[in-house]
Amino acid sequence: MRPTLLNPLFSPVTSLTGIGPKLSIALTRLLRGGGGGGDGIEQAVVGDLLFHLPSGLIDRRNQPTIMDATEGTLSTIKVRIDRHQPSPRGNQRVPYRIYVHDDSGEMALVYFRGQSRWLESQYPVGETRFVSGRLEWFNGRANMIHPDYVVSEENFDDLPLVEPVYPLVSGVSLKIMHRSIANALEALPKLPEWIDASLLAKHHWPSVENALDQVHHPRDELDISPQSTAWKRLAFDELLAGQLALALVRSKMKKSAGRSWRGNGSKQQKILNALPFALTGAQQRSVKEILDDMAMPERMLRLLQGDVGSGKTIVALLACATAIEAGGQAALMAPTEILTRQHFATIQPLAEAAGIRLAVLTGREKGKEREAIYDQLANAEIDLVVGTHALFQTNVVFKNLAIGIVDEQHRFGVHQRLALASKGGGADILVMTATPIPRTLVLTYFGDMDVSKLDEKPAERLPIQTNALPMERLDELIDRVRGAVGRGEKVYWLCPLVEDSEELPITSAESRYKSLEQLMGQNVGLVHGRMKSADKDAAMLDFKEGRTRVLVATTVIEVGVDVPDATIMVIEHAERFGLAQLHQLRGRVGRGTQSSTCLLLYKAPLGEIAQDRIKIMRETEDGFRIAEEDLKLRGEGEILGTRQSGTPGFQIAQMEHHAELLEMARDNARLILNEDAELTGPHGDALRHLLYLHSKDEAVRLLRAG
Ligand code: ADP
Ligand code: MG
Repeated sequence: MRPTLLNPLFSPVTSLTGIGPKLSIALTRLLRGGGGGGDGIEQAVVGDLLFHLPSGLIDRRNQPTIMDATEGTLSTIKVRIDRHQPSPRGNQRVPYRIYVHDDSGEMALVYFRGQSRWLESQYPVGETRFVSGRLEWFNGRANMIHPDYVVSEENFDDLPLVEPVYPLVSGVSLKIMHRSIANALEALPKLPEWIDASLLAKHHWPSVENALDQVHHPRDELDISPQSTAWKRLAFDELLAGQLALALVRSKMKKSAGRSWRGNGSKQQKILNALPFALTGAQQRSVKEILDDMAMPERMLRLLQGDVGSGKTIVALLACATAIEAGGQAALMAPTEILTRQHFATIQPLAEAAGIRLAVLTGREKGKEREAIYDQLANAEIDLVVGTHALFQTNVVFKNLAIGIVDEQHRFGVHQRLALASKGGGADILVMTATPIPRTLVLTYFGDMDVSKLDEKPAERLPIQTNALPMERLDELIDRVRGAVGRGEKVYWLCPLVEDSEELPITSAESRYKSLEQLMGQNVGLVHGRMKSADKDAAMLDFKEGRTRVLVATTVIEVGVDVPDATIMVIEHAERFGLAQLHQLRGRVGRGTQSSTCLLLYKAPLGEIAQDRIKIMRETEDGFRIAEEDLKLRGEGEILGTRQSGTPGFQIAQMEHHAELLEMARDNARLILNEDAELTGPHGDALRHLLYLHSKDEAVRLLRAG
C-alpha cells in the first residue's frame, strides 16, 4: 500500500483549486502524453506537476533607462506618468497610449482595446511606476506594447524579477502553469529523507522540498540548470528509484532457483528445415548464447537486441523449441493484438512442422475457448502460447513453464513486465527489443542483464532509399504512389494523428485516407489506434493479402508489423516524429526482395533538429548509430509533439548530464539492499516512499512486508 503521506501527490490535478475537467485533460496531455482518448492513460496527478521542471527563464532583472534599453529584450523601467491619450471615440483600431518619461527620455505605453477606467487607475498622472515588458522603436519613438507588469514603488516586490518557463500545450498558458505548480507545491507534504546523510553532505544536495522549491522558484539560470544541485538531487532520486526497482526484481528472480533446460535438437532441426532461408551469423550466435544460458541451472535473464527486421522471431522460436524438447512449455508475449496475431501466423506453419502444440491467447478469446486454453496450459497439452498481457492473468497457470519471452519492441515498461514474469516458478526470461539501445541505457532500463545482439541483417536485404520532400510537392508524391500501385506495389502512408484537431494544422490519418480514397478508390485502407482490434486486424490483413495497396496508418503499425512486399513508406509530417520512431517506421519496408523507398514528407520550414534528424535518416540505416544520434539530439530538449523529449522513460534525469549519477544510483542501490534487503528499517521505510513517489509500486510489492 502506498504510504498515506503521499496521497496528496497522487490526487488527480482536479483536486487543486482552479483546475477543472477541461484543464485536467490539457494537463494530462502535457504531463502524461495522452489521456482523454481511451488510450488507457489516467488523469495527471499533483505529483506530475511537481516533476514538470522549467525549460527556461523570463528574466526581468534588467533595469535600464528608456534610452539604454535594448530593443526587443525584457526590461523593467522606472517611469513617471505624463498623460493619457485614449483611443478616439468609435475607433478602437487606434490604440490607447500613455506617455511616460524618465531622465533619459520619453516612451509610450501602448494598449490595444485598452479599458480607460482600468488604465487610469493603473497609471495616475504625475506618479511613478515600474513597468516591465519589451521596448520597441517606431518612427524614432520608444514604445512598450502591453507591459507585462505595472507596479508602484511600494509594491516593487510584487514584480517577479525572474519567472520560470515551462513546456506548455494548447489550453495551458504560462500563467495557469505557474498557478498550478504553486498549488501543487502547497500540497507537498514533509517527506522523510531517503538519501544517506553522507551523500547529501558530500554533494551539497538540498532536501526534496527545497530542491523542488528551488527549481520552481529560480533566482537565476543556474537554479534551473540540470547541473544545479537541486536538479541533480531530483534526478538522483528518480535514478535511485529505478535502480532499486530493478535490483529488487532481479534479486527476487535470482532467489527462485532456475532449472537446466537442454534440448536434443530434434524440433529445432525441423524448424530450420522448414525455413526458406538460412540463419544469419548473428542469429546463430544469439541462439547459441541463449541455449547455453538455458542449459545452466541458474535462471536466464537475457536481452535480445536487434534492429527492426533483424529476425528476432525465429531466434525466439528456436529457444522455445529447445524448452519444449526438454519437456517444458514456452510463452511469448507481444505488446499488441496485431503483433500477437502476426507472431502466431509466422509461427504456426513452423510449429506444425516441428510438432509443437501452439495456442494464441489475447483479450479476444472468450468463454469456452478461453477456458479450454487455460486447461490445456495447466495440463501441458499446449507447448507454446503466444499472447498479449492476457498471459499474465492469474487464471493462466502453466504446468511446466521453461521460458517466458517478452517482445518489448521499443516500449519501456520492462520493470513491470519482469516483475510480472517473475511471479511463477523459475522460468528463464528473454526480453526482445527492437531499440538498439546504447550501453548506458541498457543499464538504465534493464539493469545488469546479459545481452545478445543481432547486428547483421538477413542477407538479401536491399538498402532503403530515403528522400525528404516538402508538403508543396504532395501532388508529385501522390502521382508516384499511384504509379507504384499501378505496378502492383504496396505503400504505407503514415500520419501523426488519427483525427483532425483544431489545435494542430496537421493532416490526420482519417482525412488523408478520405482524400486518397477519392483518388484511388478501393485500393486504400486505414488503420489506427482508435479502431476496434478486430477492425484493425482486418485492415492489416487486407493490406497483407493485397486487397488494399495503400495503407494509411498512425503509429499503431510501428511495432513489428511484417508485410514483406510493401515497398514504399510515406511519412507525412516527418518533422513531428523522433529519430528512433522514424527509424522504426522506415523498417516496415525493405523486408522483401524488392528495393524500397522511404519518403519523408515535411512541412517547411524545418527546425534545426528536425533537419538533423532527416539528414541522419538519409545517411544511415544503422540502428545503433541512429540510437546514439537520437540521444545526442534529444539532449537539445526540443519540444516534440506535446511532450518535451528528455531521456526516454525519465522525467527529470537526462543522460547527457546525469550519466555519472546513474552509476552512483546503481552503486547506492546495491549498498542499500546489501544492508537491508527487505527495506524494513527506518531508512528502508523512507526508501519505500521514494519508490512509490516514482511509481515503482510493482517493485515494492516484491518486498515481504509490503
Ligand atoms: P524483427 O522481429 O527482428 O523485426 P522478424 O523476426 O519479424 O524481425 O523478421 C523479419 C523478416 O525477416 C521476416 O519476414 C523473417 O521471415 C525474415 N528473416 C528472418 N531471418 C532471416 C534470415 N536469416 N534470412 C532471410 N530472412 C530472414
Ligand atoms: Mg519482431
